[in-house]
Amino acid sequence: MSFKELGVNPALVKALVAAGIEKPFPIQKATLPDAIAGKDILGRGQTGSGKTLAFGLALMTRLAGKTAESMRPLGLVLSPTRELAMQISDVIAPLSRTVNLNSQVVAGGLSYSKQIQALKRGVPIVVATPGRLIDLINKKHIKLDDVQITILDEADQMADMGFLPDVKKILDQTKPGGQRMLFSATLDRDVDSLVKKYLKNPVTHSLANEKSTAGNMTHHVLVMEQANKDAITASIAARKGKSIFFVRTKHGADKLAKRMNESGVSVGALHGGKTQAQRSRVLEGFKMGKTNALVATDVAARGIHVDDVSLVVHVDAPENHKDYLHRAGRTARAGAVGTVVTLATHKQLKGVRGLAARAGVKLVIVTGK
Ligand code: AMP
Repeated sequence: MSFKELGVNPALVKALVAAGIEKPFPIQKATLPDAIAGKDILGRGQTGSGKTLAFGLALMTRLAGKTAESMRPLGLVLSPTRELAMQISDVIAPLSRTVNLNSQVVAGGLSYSKQIQALKRGVPIVVATPGRLIDLINKKHIKLDDVQITILDEADQMADMGFLPDVKKILDQTKPGGQRMLFSATLDRDVDSLVKKYLKNPVTHSLANEKSTAGNMTHHVLVMEQANKDAITASIAARKGKSIFFVRTKHGADKLAKRMNESGVSVGALHGGKTQAQRSRVLEGFKMGKTNALVATDVAARGIHVDDVSLVVHVDAPENHKDYLHRAGRTARAGAVGTVVTLATHKQLKGVRGLAARAGVKLVIVTGK
């Protein structure tokens, strides 16, 4: 089955082939025909499965060649974080030009004037975070009544981050009867209410979710004394492949990054306390392989895709099983293999077992002497 047979616009198919993307991933096969037919889509599961192209190709095929009036986009993608918004835009922007569309990121931490200018000229596709979008709506720089297609990416993360009231306000302003696609790893109560209120008879597809990606991912717990954690963390960071180290707090992230840098391992820290320019620089350095390790907090690292991250380390245990899966989902992407390691003291082990059970993953527990 080819992208063409799934109904994707031929110019987009050509651009995909030129980029070496010829065979649709399962999620793309499953969702594209319905999404291109204009049906509402509920995609369960997350990350690394190719969902950006799944919704992106449907969006661009449906809007191909259309023009947007000033300040009135036709398609809207909502993302919980700026990083994810920019990542989505990196996928959509070059492809959209092949079908005479263009796109604009509307997200916090970036220049207002560039976003406002682009909207004023008329831009068919907007990729936005909820906060900045509401801000620009309130300042009357954008109107959503022409939006025919709305995509909510990582909806459960938007819920976790407290964005649902904004998301609802945004959806209420989009064109009545428009198409909606919602992607979420879980369908907890809050996301469920969104689905019930805003999606009409959605076609539900379970994407490569936590259970099916689990095959590519192995999960370990290293049980150790608290006092040994730093030394063990530093020696893991000195490994060859790309690793991401998760901690709970911004301060913890800075401290750990500093210690690692002092021990000779070059790492970057990614957290919400940094400016957007700093965050972009750190992420770019990691993507390009200038640094092999990244220390991150949960919020800053949500949804980010970096190729070939072969190891995720929970230096601090995650808050809950959803965070465990979000963090783990940074590895084993696009069919690759990955390892997830939790560093725990004997005391913490019970809690980690509980998280893993709720996340549906099988742990290999390694106890030191
Ligand atoms: P996503 O889940 O959207 O973040 O995509 C994960 C990775 O898979 C990205 O690097 C995509 O470029 C890549 N990808 C998506 N679809 C395909 C495909 N059909 N063939 C090859 N690579 C793909």
